[in-house]
Amino acid sequence: MTLHPNIIKLTKVNSIIKKKKSQQALLSEEINFMVDEYTSENIMDDIMSDWIKAIYDNGMNKDEILSYTKAMLFSGITLDFSYLDGYVIDKHSTGGVGDKVSLILGPILAACGYHVPMIAGRGLEYTGGTIDKLESIPGYNAFLSIENFKKNVEKIGISIMSQTDDICPADKKIYELRDRTKMVASFPLICGSIMSKKIAEGIEGLILDIKVGNGAFMKEISDGKKLGTLLKSVGELYGIKVYPCYTNMDQPLGDYAGLWCEVLESIECLKGNGPEDLMNVIYYLIEKAFYLSGINFNLDEIKGIINDGSALNKFFDMVIAHGGLIKTFEDSKINAPLYKEKIFSIDTGFISFMDTELIGLVLSDLCGRHGNSTNALDPSAGIKFHKKNGNYVDKDDLVMEYFCSNKSNFDNCKYRLQKSFHVQSEYVFKKELIYK
Ligand code: URA
Repeated sequence: MTLHPNIIKLTKVNSIIKKKKSQQALLSEEINFMVDEYTSENIMDDIMSDWIKAIYDNGMNKDEILSYTKAMLFSGITLDFSYLDGYVIDKHSTGGVGDKVSLILGPILAACGYHVPMIAGRGLEYTGGTIDKLESIPGYNAFLSIENFKKNVEKIGISIMSQTDDICPADKKIYELRDRTKMVASFPLICGSIMSKKIAEGIEGLILDIKVGNGAFMKEISDGKKLGTLLKSVGELYGIKVYPCYTNMDQPLGDYAGLWCEVLESIECLKGNGPEDLMNVIYYLIEKAFYLSGINFNLDEIKGIINDGSALNKFFDMVIAHGGLIKTFEDSKINAPLYKEKIFSIDTGFISFMDTELIGLVLSDLCGRHGNSTNALDPSAGIKFHKKNGNYVDKDDLVMEYFCSNKSNFDNCKYRLQKSFHVQSEYVFKKELIYK
């Protein structure tokens, strides 16, 4: 009797899953098979999530991680910008709350003459996503053809888009599955996801912003360093210079976390009005980008590029090239939230702790994501932080405000946000923002 090809395939899938569940190392052919078959929609989500869970629970050795990253990378095309004059560079964050650095740093680098082909993702679990934020701009298309993406990178210097069916399609699908099944914080899965996107971009240099803290996937600096070292070694195998930076995520970055509100905050940063913590991270990462490309860094020059409007113009040019309507930035009625509420301190003292993961989860609900990145999001949703770690508050002082336009999303947030920070009477020393 000859078995039907589908039965042979299913038997193979089951044996690969069983092998990983029993902590054995997989062969590159087995890893390729799983990634290819899932990308081609020959493996169902529940079966693939069994395999992803086996990796999440048991990890992978270095050879497996390399094979996994390669399989993710070659699920789509890879770009080549070697014909361009300028340095081709990107920055990627491992994910945080209020982390809008890419929206600001990318245009600044483009205004400095770099080429930035940035493939980014949606929110993952409690962390925000660059694509979700950009899509809050009316008209913004994050799914360009490769031809248009390349044209933007050549002409404007920057384009930010999502994984598509052409570039990193495996990450597009697995990313969403990991988000839904809450299997994100895993060295091999993060490495395959980030490095496949970055290698596919055809870049020469990569700045990694490894977020460490209670609102990040890496809770401890030791794990952050382990991840940074892994990502750097994989990038270097593909000829990319990688500089891992480590920055703190024990509280949201900047004054806002959300969708449209983060875009507006990014525009303020590009006008020279950015909050200190956010700008310090941006300047630090730009310094490292200059270092990678062998150029002397001068902070005053970067501030000049912001103050003369060139960085903001790059952002606008990119938005227009993606179909976004920049006149909406001046219209206060656009994405204006219907519901707003304030959170006050119930104690007097110093803010000693912000539960950033909880804040990110509340935000995910406020936006209507509810743990599923395929849900349509409410662009008006967000949180404004009036106080952060180390700040003194009197009882009844305003600590944060939250807002959105969907009543049922709005109604569930107050109690959780009220519990998301602690106040103590003794002075609290602020943690370093940048681990140098
Ligand atoms: N960013 C990504 O692109 N992928 C991950 O898995 C985590 C952060």
